This record gives sequence, C-alpha cells and structure tokens, in this order.
Amino acid sequence: MRLSKTHFTTLREAPSDAEIPSHVWLIRAGMIRKSVAGVYNFMTFGWRTVRKIEQIVREEMDRAGAQEIITSPVQPAELWHESGRWQVYGPELWRLKDRHGREFCLGPTAEEVFTDIVRNEINSYRQLPRNIYQIQLKYRDEARPRYGLMRSREFIMKDAYSFDRDPAGLDESYRKMREAYTRIFTRCGLDFRPVAADNGAIGGTGSEEFQALCDYGESDIVHCPCGYAATTDQAGGVDAAAEGAEGMLPMEEVHTPGTKTIEAVADFLGLPKDKTLKALLFVVYNDPEEGAEPGAEPVYTVREYVAAFVRGDRDLNMVKLRNALGGVAEHLIEFADEAAMGAATGSVAGFTGPTGLHGCRIVADSEIPGLKNLCAGACKEDYHVKNVNYGRDWTADVVADLKLVRAGDPCPECGLPLEMARGIEVGQIFKLGTKYSSSMGATYRDENQEEHLIWMGCYGIGVTRTMAAVVEQCHDDDGIIWPLAVAPFHAIVCPVKNGDEQVAALAEEIYGGLLAAGVEALLDDRDERPGVKFKDADMLGIPIRVTVGKKAAEGIVEYKLRAEKQAEEVSPDEAVRRAADAVGGIGKG
Ligand code: ATP
Ligand code: MG
Repeated sequence: MRLSKTHFTTLREAPSDAEIPSHVWLIRAGMIRKSVAGVYNFMTFGWRTVRKIEQIVREEMDRAGAQEIITSPVQPAELWHESGRWQVYGPELWRLKDRHGREFCLGPTAEEVFTDIVRNEINSYRQLPRNIYQIQLKYRDEARPRYGLMRSREFIMKDAYSFDRDPAGLDESYRKMREAYTRIFTRCGLDFRPVAADNGAIGGTGSEEFQALCDYGESDIVHCPCGYAATTDQAGGVDAAAEGAEGMLPMEEVHTPGTKTIEAVADFLGLPKDKTLKALLFVVYNDPEEGAEPGAEPVYTVREYVAAFVRGDRDLNMVKLRNALGGVAEHLIEFADEAAMGAATGSVAGFTGPTGLHGCRIVADSEIPGLKNLCAGACKEDYHVKNVNYGRDWTADVVADLKLVRAGDPCPECGLPLEMARGIEVGQIFKLGTKYSSSMGATYRDENQEEHLIWMGCYGIGVTRTMAAVVEQCHDDDGIIWPLAVAPFHAIVCPVKNGDEQVAALAEEIYGGLLAAGVEALLDDRDERPGVKFKDADMLGIPIRVTVGKKAAEGIVEYKLRAEKQAEEVSPDEAVRRAADAVGGIGKG
C-alpha cells in the first residue's frame, strides 16, 4: 500500500482522556478513533491488526476442533429470563426494546444463545462433544469505561462454548482450550500467564484467566516460585495459626476517644494491629428487577445489612465476600450508609464490634474463630471492648475466607512468600458444568435412551483488549513496536530524497520485490521530510524499515528493525531477502 493513498493520520498529542501507553499510541498512530465514551472506530492500520489477531484466534480454535458460527448481538430477553441472568447481570447489560415493547439486550456474552442453539439441535450422545465459537462485537455498559480498548463498552470478543456428555468430557474440552489459548497468546507475542480465577457463584472446579503481565493491568495477581498463580479474588488466604495456648481473658470496655481507625485504636491502647478486629459494613439490596413491571425505573430497597470482620491488619476482598454471601451480584452490594445501618443494627461508625450488633448478617474471616482476646468496637461512640473471643462472646452467620491476599503472605500451596504482579485479563476459560443446561433444559439421550444434562464450558478472549495488551507490552517513547505476527504491515520502504528519480525508482523496486516475496509492505511515497517519515513509521510500529537514500546510486540501502536502535547497510536484494525470511519465520504456533 502507498502511504500517500492510505487513509490514516497520526497525531502530535494524545487526547486528554488517554492515560496509559496503549490508549495514547493507538490513538496517536491513527489506529483507532473514539466515537463516544468506550466506543471506538477502527481505522485502516488498527483494523488490519484486529484481523490478524482474529485470524490467529481462528486458526488455533479450528486446530483445537472448534467450529466458527456467528450469532446476532441482539439477544431476546426471554433467554436471559430463563437462565435467571436478566436480573443478576445488572446495569452493565445493555437493554433495548423494539417498537412493540419487546425487550432485548446487546449481548455482553452468549451462554444463553449458545445453550438455546444446542438444546434445539442436539439430542443424542452421538452429537457430542461439540465446541462452537464466534468472533463478535460484545456490549457491556461498563460503569467506568476507560483505558481505550482495555475497558470499552463495545469490544470484540471470541467466545467459545463446549458441550460434553460428562465431567470427564468437559475436562478434556477445557484442556484443549487451555492449550489453544497458550498458543494464541504466544503467537500474539504476549508475555502472559494463566492464573487460577474466581468461579463466582457458579462454583465448580475450574476457571483460569490468561493475564498479560503489565504495570497498568487492572488485575492483581499473586504468584509463587512453586508455580502457584492466582488472581487476588481467587488466591486462598492462609489463616494465622490458632492461638490455642492463650487463655480467654474477661471482656473489658475501654474509653478510646476519637479512635475511629484500626491504627488509631491500636496506637492508643498500645496493641499490635493483629490483636484487633476490623469491621466493614455493607448494605445488600433486593434486586430491583425482581417482580418489577418491565421497563420500570429500578427501585433499590434494602434486603439486609452485613457486618464483615477480618483481623485488624488485614483487608477484605469484595469478591470473596460476595461469594460468602451466596453470590451477591456486584451492583447489589455497597458500603452501608453509617447512619441508616446504625439505626437498624446498632453499628457505630468507627466503633462497630460484633458484640453490640443486632438484626444484620455477620460474616467472619476464617481465621477469626482461632484468635483470642481481640479488641473490637463496642458499638458505642468512643468505646472499644478488649478481649473479645469468638464462640464465647459472639458467633458469625457465615465463616469464610475473606482475606485480601498480599505480597509476602504465605503461598497456599507451599508456604513460601507470595509475590504480586499486575496483569491485563486477555482471556478466561471456565468450567460451567450444568448451570445453563439445567436452567435452560439442554439435554442429550445416551445409548440407552436415558436423558442427561449436557456439561458445558465457556471460553472468552478479548480480541481488542489483546491488541491493547500487546501495545502495553510492546512500545517505547516513539510509539508502538508491533510483533511481526500482529503488525498491520510487516515492512515499510522509506525513500528519503524527494525528487531524486534514482531513489524513487529503487524504492519502487524494493517495494515490488517485498510484495512479490509475500511481505506486506508499505511505501512511504509522501512528499515529506525524512524526519516525518521516520517518526510516523516508528509511531505506527512497522517492524521492518528499509530506507532508500543517499547511497541508492551505490546500490546500498538501510535495513532497520523497529525493535532495534541500529540500522544496517545492505544491498536491496539482501533487504528483501531478510524481510521475506523474517515474515516466513512468523510462528504458526
Ligand atoms: P473484567 O473482569 O476485566 O471486567 P470479565 O471477567 O468480566 O472482564 P469475561 O466475561 O471473562 O470478562 O469476558 C471475556 C474476555 O473479554 C475478557 O477476558 C476480556 O479479555 C474481554 N473483556 C471483558 N470486558 C471487556 C471490556 N469492557 N472491554 C474490552 N474487553 C473486555
Ligand atoms: Mg473474565
């Protein structure tokens, strides 16, 4: 392609909402353009990269035996009512109505649609196993769309669904997807790792996220030299050893004026923080969709108040708490209004403890029952109680691991100190079991005509988020450095003496040679200064640059890799050969 005729513009400045490198460079290099918050249009170069990532995904999915279909992003509400998710999904679900008032959503994912397809078309064990997938636009009305393609409201996802006879079949389908994902992200040039992930309310045994390691990632990951790796939502917290030897002391109310934080009360009483009990207060709402007239404004009413307790030096992980409460949807729980909860339960902001509460659900972290003589709030302004003991003085309605795992905490598998990293979740694989087949009635008949539920798995890849993750990992101060396999073009030829016919002719010759050798080449035939050409080529991140300049007459050109500082002088033939070799060597996995 000739740059003079290519639809693209690079920008000197990033827009003010671009906070992270991938957002900055994808915009500045003219790959994407914002439509509205969280919705982007893809320009020539950006779309070529999307298609390359899609193609890698497609090849590896097909290799793993999956089959591509395409479904409509417009999904009827009825299917979501059947699975029960119309209520659960919350405001992220992008809902719409047709002229007759019938409700739909724009699919954020497609378990319901695929389960519906399969229940209509599969009835015999002979049709199993099956894995079908699509690469399609998805819609999530994210509360905070940000970081460009990283968290957008419209994005491209590959979603696959596997259907098996039994758990062993599901295990095998899952294993194949795990392998395919490893190949896909490797081919995309990402530094990534699979980590154990939260299964949410679905339960079951298996889910992993593929995390591209990166400082700007939104996921916190812990990992250990022993090989253990998990998101902090999933990482099992290791309980402190129970304090068996310490005897229980009598409770004692103490005046602790103004000590509203753990730090303050621990300082005031001269106690270590791990001898205190931290209270976190939440309100859980009834689902506003439940029983409401279709289309009515959602009205949130209080279902219950929750007091969660962790050791004073710990933090609480929200996902663990929501799971402990039986799978409360993210949008139905928040920090409680102190006055309202106080009136209902006796809690007192900054001075809440388990002994003075009534009429709320009490959840305790799993290590709390083993700890002795903790200092807790007295549910009375400016007072705490010392020597509060679980079992003797209070009990919880739910005891579960609520701990936010941190760097240095012991690995749940081997006990060594865990390390922390940040990552971008580029994909997730999930054993669903029979959640959707049972709610939606997807069954098959076995050899004896007996009917069984189908075992399902689901497997997602954020295609556009993967693109952003690649840029996050592959850029420098001048722009993007695309790995060859996902670069919009492999090579760019830059003639740098405008008006010099010999230079122009040689550049044309090399350009033609590259195309003939199967190299996706650009020719920068614009009437621009060398500095402008180099700047744009760098910003666009084209992996190979061939510069034709002052030594053209001697048959010498410059061959330079975007990832390297130094250029090399080579003959035009050599430049073409090297580029062709590099492209020929792009891993097909
Ligand atoms: P997150 O926790 O980041 O919100 P998720 O776990 O809800 O993501 P999944 O339901 O697992 O996402 O979707 C599959 C994949 O789709 C994710 O692994 C991610 O790569 C991609 N994805 C999800 N939400 C977005 C988004 N808002 N913008 C871009 N890609 C997304
Ligand atoms: Mg996920």
